Amino acid sequence: MKLSRFALVLLLSHAVAAFALPRHSPVPGGIAVIDLGPASQTAPTARWGEQPIAIVRDHGRWFALLGIPLDTLPGELDIMVSGTIKRVTVQIKNYPEQRLTIKDKRKVEPNPDDLARIEREKKVTDAIKRRFSGSPPATDFALPANGPLSSRFGLRRIFNGLPRNPHAGLDVAVGTGAPITAPADGVVANVGDYFFNGNTVFIDHGQGLITAYMHLSRTDVRAGQMIKKGERLGAVGATGRVTGPHLHWAVILNNTPVDPELFLARP
Ligand code: ZN
Repeated sequence: MKLSRFALVLLLSHAVAAFALPRHSPVPGGIAVIDLGPASQTAPTARWGEQPIAIVRDHGRWFALLGIPLDTLPGELDIMVSGTIKRVTVQIKNYPEQRLTIKDKRKVEPNPDDLARIEREKKVTDAIKRRFSGSPPATDFALPANGPLSSRFGLRRIFNGLPRNPHAGLDVAVGTGAPITAPADGVVANVGDYFFNGNTVFIDHGQGLITAYMHLSRTDVRAGQMIKKGERLGAVGATGRVTGPHLHWAVILNNTPVDPELFLARP
């Protein structure tokens, strides 16, 4: 009896593990999940140019997880896997347009002081996005806030009639004060107050998989702190460039923002 219960637990954990990899979506803003063959003792290494790429083990095989930048043109791109070229075909994806009106005009047309601040902050966030720590990342994410998804990843954005950067994250429609929890284990990489992103927490999940939580009303964690899946990291707010309170959730893989929905189990 004990044995069969044990077998059932094994079976269940196996079923859960089947959803551990992000979805393969080789489009701009998507992820190429590249099968590198049966898992040997040592993991292969993979690079795209100078940027190392995450390698994860699933069902006895190695997979490279390549985040594809939103501005990538359809066609072939080459990554290096343990010294040999592996080719990835990037398909077309057209993201819809979104027009927004921001009351605080400085958040759309920043003054010279704002521009200096934005430049300083960009150096900080660029360094966080380039991080590549050794430990293999957990990729079975839980949604970090309890609410409906509103603005999806990749929308081509026009603020007050002016074209701006595309929407590089996923919005969850929740009110100010609602808890935000870690989608998976990691280390808090940075906590800061940014011009566009407002109060922000970055979590490093390992091997270039970084997540960020923006526009928070409060933050409950410190840089360097270990955080577990489901642990509270702050509360929803409306700081930075927003039309109202919500969570903006960004997922970065090999220094590239990708669609967070690819890490969530299909509803
Ligand atoms: Zn957003």
